Amino acid sequence: MINIALAGNPNCGKTTVFNMLTGAEEYVGNRAGVTVEKKEKILKGRKDVVVTDLPGIYSLSPYTAEEVITREHLLSGRSQVILNVADATKLQRSLYLTLQLMDMGLPLVLGLNMADAAEKQGVVIDTEKLGRILGVPVVKMSAVKGIGLDEAVEKAVYAAGKKAAPPKAFSAGTERAILNIENMLKGQAEKTRWYAAALFQRDERVYENLSLKQDIKDQIEAVIRKRERECGDSADSIIISERYDIAEKAAEQCVLKTKKESSLSEKIDRIVTGKFTALPVFAVVMAAVYFLSAGPVGSMLSEFFEDTVINGVITQPLRELLIYVDCADWLVGLVIDGIMGGVGTVVGFLPQLALLFVMLSLLEECGYMARVAFIMDRFFRAFGLSGKSFIPMLIATGCGVPAVMSSRTVDNESQRRMTIITATFMPCGAKLPVISMIAGTFFGGAWWVAVLAYFTGAAAVLISGLILKGLKIFRDNDAPFVMELPDYHLPKGNIVFRTVKERCVSFVKRAGTVILPASCVVWILLNVGWSAGGFAFVREPADSVLRNLGELLAAGFQPLGFGSWQAAVASVLGLLAKEELVGVFGVLGDAGEIFRDSLSAFSFMMFNLLCMPCVAAMSAIRKEMNSFWWTGFALLYQTVFAYGTALCIYQTGIFVRTGNITVGTITAMLTFATAVILILYSYKKSKNEKIKKTLLTKERKRV
Ligand code: GDP
Ligand code: MG
Repeated sequence: MINIALAGNPNCGKTTVFNMLTGAEEYVGNRAGVTVEKKEKILKGRKDVVVTDLPGIYSLSPYTAEEVITREHLLSGRSQVILNVADATKLQRSLYLTLQLMDMGLPLVLGLNMADAAEKQGVVIDTEKLGRILGVPVVKMSAVKGIGLDEAVEKAVYAAGKKAAPPKAFSAGTERAILNIENMLKGQAEKTRWYAAALFQRDERVYENLSLKQDIKDQIEAVIRKRERECGDSADSIIISERYDIAEKAAEQCVLKTKKESSLSEKIDRIVTGKFTALPVFAVVMAAVYFLSAGPVGSMLSEFFEDTVINGVITQPLRELLIYVDCADWLVGLVIDGIMGGVGTVVGFLPQLALLFVMLSLLEECGYMARVAFIMDRFFRAFGLSGKSFIPMLIATGCGVPAVMSSRTVDNESQRRMTIITATFMPCGAKLPVISMIAGTFFGGAWWVAVLAYFTGAAAVLISGLILKGLKIFRDNDAPFVMELPDYHLPKGNIVFRTVKERCVSFVKRAGTVILPASCVVWILLNVGWSAGGFAFVREPADSVLRNLGELLAAGFQPLGFGSWQAAVASVLGLLAKEELVGVFGVLGDAGEIFRDSLSAFSFMMFNLLCMPCVAAMSAIRKEMNSFWWTGFALLYQTVFAYGTALCIYQTGIFVRTGNITVGTITAMLTFATAVILILYSYKKSKNEKIKKTLLTKERKRV
């Protein structure tokens, strides 16, 4: 029985080949990631040959489920030969994988699929030369037209069980290192070259599988370190770039392009992702998105919606109705101030968000979003995040709930979690009233307060990235970034509509369901208290249970400069919705009196901008993290970060003013030092671990 494994990049036509060969009817689609499991079936017309369709992969590193499935299948020895299906129109990228497959020590036949499409594009490949360079048989095929498949299978069957072609060598020094490791493994594993190369790249899965003795591990590490020192680069970076060089050279030597016209998408991309034009274009697009959604236009829309629609059409008539039917005062208060106040303000964001969603969905549909991730990746990567983290951050300037939900597009798990944890540091729409209140009351309405707030938010994201990326729980955050840049096309109205509708509905659901009970609880806490006669409704917030709670918390806020119960209660109410922070001061007392001075007001603002977000966003975090511990970690981290920041701000201010060094000053200094140490630790760790080369393959999706 001969088993032929079909391996290749996503969307190169493996399943089409599989269906043609076996008569199966597996799902074929023009996008990456259609086949996520392997499938086996007997070759049509031959009972002794089985074909296995493997999921599409770009490399054999263990970063995605597809990669793991494929490599485990190939290592298991189930298949005796690989039919490497390659997209002839994207030869270089395909060869990068071919080189890795060749290291597995199985005989390999390279099938250049899509030969028909390549021909149309004017791509001519010298298969014979390519075969000579690689040392494997190369066959041109077209799965849809049924050309070349028989020949490829025949060659594969012939090669099965024979000796594999010698793999392409790395540079002399790297080869020596790998050979060194190979010798240490003698007798431990078959396919030693593949294992040695994987160990050289510090492939954790292979380390686990082989369960090597500690002294061998140490020896291997010494070999790796030595080579890293020689190259001044990390081990996997060395392997990746050397493989790329080989693939690039081979492709250059064998591909002849006869036509040289570029598509419209390529022309647009020359500007949009161009070296000097990318950032200006990006800045203009983002400024437009911001101006329309979070900025002036969006807030006008939201104000109108909240005042006229929610207040005018729902809340006011409802209040009159409740009074008309003679409801008890407390019930009117609970329904109107408690429930409608809480739910209304959150839902009031809807128009603004809808506008943001429309724009994001337009950008996504037309193909620009993929470019954004591409442009931003280099920058964000330095902070342990992904290029795709940019979009959640942008959405977070509107609202944290959809921002957290949109973190789903970040595919690396660690980067996704870090995106969730840091997104709500960005000042959302609800935080703007807080900023303008503090700016207005204490800083004469100075414009720089708001700028500083945004700046601090962004800095908090990046600094947190630096702190967190070294922690063990976030270490796998540098998976190579491979993404396809789809062709630009005009957005389709119904797709945009559907996305926007779905996002709006899930926002209302998410925000609405938690905000309702939370509003009730807080309203009750604010309106009941111990009085002379016992536990009862109270008129003044100063007599309420919430005040007692605030007093408990206030002591903790003392070092931050706002240790009054009012400020503490305001912070708690801010958890319902951040703009509650503003309304609350009307009820609890004048902001000018509650804070000692502008410094403590500023510290209060910073703490509340950065600390754990409102309950709606918390619940989104819970949903996306899908884990109690991760949610707890996120909220705790945010709050500790906010506390530390406010502490440093306030204590620095006090020191500058008085010149006295107190316990507070020292604590602030220690906090600052801790942050710096954490960053340095992370820096060292991640440098040692991996400095992975970003594999940016600007490949176009075939249409
Ligand atoms: P897989 O992801 O590698 O399994 O790829 P699929 O088999 O799902 O095919 C991806 C897309 O490429 C589909 O739209 C196929 O119709 C198309 N396709 C597959 N083989 C060929 C080919 O030889 N020529 C052309 N022009 N298109 C092909
Ligand atoms: Mg497939």
